Parts: sequence; C-alpha cells; structure tokens
Amino acid sequence: MINFKSILSFLVLAFGIGMMGFSQNMKAIKSEIKSAALIEQEAFKNGKCSKVMSMMHDSITFLANGRKVPSKSVIEKFCNTIPRPFKTPTIDKLDIYPLTHETGYSIKTLEYPFDEDSKMQEFVTKVWKKTEDKWNIIHLHSTVKKVPITYVAPQNEIDNFLKNQPIIDTHIHITKGYQDNEDYNTIDSDIDMAKIKWMGQRLDENNIVLALGGGPLKYAKLWQEQDNRYWSGPRLPCNPLREQDEPCVDELPDIKVLETLYKNGTLKYLGETSFHSMGVHPADKRFDLYWALAERYQIPIGFHADKGPFKRNMKETPNWNEAYGNPLLLLPILKKYPNLKIYLMHYPGSYFNECLEVMKKYNQIYCEISAVSMFAPKDLWEPRVKKLFEEGLGDRLMFASDYVGTIRKNIEIIYNIDWLSDDQKRAIYYDNAARFLNLSDLEIERHYESVKQ
Ligand SMILES: [Zn+2]
Repeated sequence: MINFKSILSFLVLAFGIGMMGFSQNMKAIKSEIKSAALIEQEAFKNGKCSKVMSMMHDSITFLANGRKVPSKSVIEKFCNTIPRPFKTPTIDKLDIYPLTHETGYSIKTLEYPFDEDSKMQEFVTKVWKKTEDKWNIIHLHSTVKKVPITYVAPQNEIDNFLKNQPIIDTHIHITKGYQDNEDYNTIDSDIDMAKIKWMGQRLDENNIVLALGGGPLKYAKLWQEQDNRYWSGPRLPCNPLREQDEPCVDELPDIKVLETLYKNGTLKYLGETSFHSMGVHPADKRFDLYWALAERYQIPIGFHADKGPFKRNMKETPNWNEAYGNPLLLLPILKKYPNLKIYLMHYPGSYFNECLEVMKKYNQIYCEISAVSMFAPKDLWEPRVKKLFEEGLGDRLMFASDYVGTIRKNIEIIYNIDWLSDDQKRAIYYDNAARFLNLSDLEIERHYESVKQ
C-alpha cells in the first residue's frame, strides 16, 4: 500500500524566485516556473521545510491519490518527518506548461524500483501562480501506482534466438508504390518496383519465408510474380475511395477470372476483409460465390476482427461500421461453408471474446495479434493472449506485422511475451502458420534451408 508519507516524499516545494527577471513571453515564463520547480525540489530533498511551505499558497488544494489533504500543517508535518535521503529514481522527468504570464503548471514523472516484478510510478501535477513577483503553488495533486515491470530482451538475445528460424508473416498489405515514400523512392525509377524491392529487403533481413497479403488485383499479381514468397490475393471488397486500394476497378473481382488465378496458383489468398470499413455485412449475399470459391480451393482468408483502426480517413470510409468486424457474423457463413480457412486478424482487440467463441466452434480458425499488440497498452492485450493459451487455443496463434516496415518490432513483441516457452514462440513465428496453410514437408524443409546461415 502507498501511504501518504511516500506520496509526499516525491513532492518538491520551493521558495522565492524574486531574482527571476520579468518576462513578456511564454518561453521566459516557462523558464521561470522551471527554476522555481528545481529550487523547490532541492529544498524538499534537503528537508528545508519552512522554505518549502513558504512556496505554498495558504489556500492550496492538495490531492494525494485522489484524497484531499486537510491542511497545510499536515503537509508540513510530513515534510519534517519523512525519512531522508530519498531513493534515486530510475526515471525523473519534469515538463512545464505556461498558461498565462501569471499561471502555468508542471508535471513531474518519476519511476522507482519496487521489487523484482514491479515498479512505482508517480505523476505530480502542480499549478503555479505568480503574485507580487513570486511563484506559488496553488494546487497540487499526486498519483502513485505500482505497475508491473515489462520484460524487454536485449537485441542480441533476440538475434541469437532468430538464427535459422524461418518466419511466416500472415498480414501484409500489397499496394502501389508511393512517390513520396523516402524509404524506397530512390531504389528504382519504377516506383511500384521500388516498393517491391524494398519490401523484399525487409523480408530478407527478418527471415520471412512466406507472406500473406491482399491488395489491388494488379499488384497482387505483380508482387507474387516478382517475389514468390508472397501468397497474394484481392481485398474483399476493395474500396474505390481508398488510395491504398488503387486501382480498384471492381469492388469484387470477376469470379471466373479469380477462379482461374486460384486454380493455376497465381493467387493464393483472400483478404484482408474490409466489411467494417466499407459498411457491408459479411453475410451479404454478394459474397457467397467468393466463400464457395475460397472453400473449394482452400484459400486462406484474413478477416479483420476488430473495431479499429481508430485513426482513419473519413472521406475514404464514409460508411464505416465497426459492428461488421465482429467475427460472430461469420457463424452463419461457416455453417454454410464449414471448411473455410479463415484467420481472425487483431485477435486481442475489441472482439477477443467473440474470436474465442468462433475459434472454439471451428478447429480450422486461427488468429494473429498485429496492430493491437503494437498500439494498445500491453496491460490490455497480454492477458487476452494468455486467455487464448488458457483456453487451449495457443497453437493457433500466428505471426503478423500488418504495417509496412514493422516486421522486426512485431517479432520483438512476440519474443517479449515472457511466459511463452521457446517452443511456443517458434510455433507462433512459423509452425502454426505452416499447419494452417497445409505446407508440405518439402516446402517446410525448403524454408528452413533458405534461412540457414
Ligand atoms: Zn486489419
């Protein structure tokens, strides 16, 4: 438990800054408040409590972990009795935000080791007011909480682990090349080729032996033709308003053309689904032919099973309906086409319970954790991944990156889930997807061979 004393131990109060020059601009105000805050820290650290108290306004409001402290004298008593010296913080950051010439606030962020598994985090906000050329604290609140230490492995440990380890990335996006993309726009005079080459380098350096990706039919064909590591296919459906989908000739490709491409092995994928972003129900009759085709050729389908992304271009997606990302909507479709090979993208997001429900009903449904595991707090998504394992579904989790250039980061996210065994990590990187995709022993052998150092 956090007692009031420990909260106060981090409060730092100051006295007089009469020597500070009067300033007309905010930059100078910021530096005045900063100086006051620093002097105050020193005074509190050294137990100069009467000086500290002289910097607090008589009617100061003071909140410690949400509770109001009754009076200034209570604060003074703690200042005088707190054991010194204080522990050295591992993080000590001070941000100043001037508001007017006479007011501003400061936020102090501190972190201290607690025990093997946890650390203390403290945020102290002080509102400052200048009266008669002197800065005083008129409001102060402090929040202290114990948070778990998240394990981060050193880079060389991860590199060692990944030696000779093939990886399958089940979520990339195939697009045109963008002229303004400085990562690759000088690699080739043909910008589409430049992007393919640059992506190829990302696959090389991360041991990606196979990547599942959807995009415009034109580029789905081009990418796999240039690099046979891609299992590509059309988005379902493509969005004529969305730049990333250009050229989107028909929202749904001609079924005969698509059948030929699946039959002769040119295309091997369907997705990512965009039902949510297009505002169409997954069970809409228009898709029936595509489900039937995908089932017949055992084409893997990436279903976007989340409400996000939450930052998006509204002009490109005027009919956005997050309800259509709910995987439960797949149940009537699966009833009709029970052998559809679907995997649920962004599993630990808003529909994780629904994902579990669908996965429990159908053994061939797999999942991945991209985007959510990169953008949401670990406290939120990690317990959901743990639940997947507790429910006995962990061997259906596959590796995925989703965002261009983030393969390595996503590899590290999996590696840093510290309760996973080495075998489980390797299964996520490769084995689970190999099983999902029905790879032959020969293909698997070739994949291992291709990353051997
Ligand atoms: Zn997605």
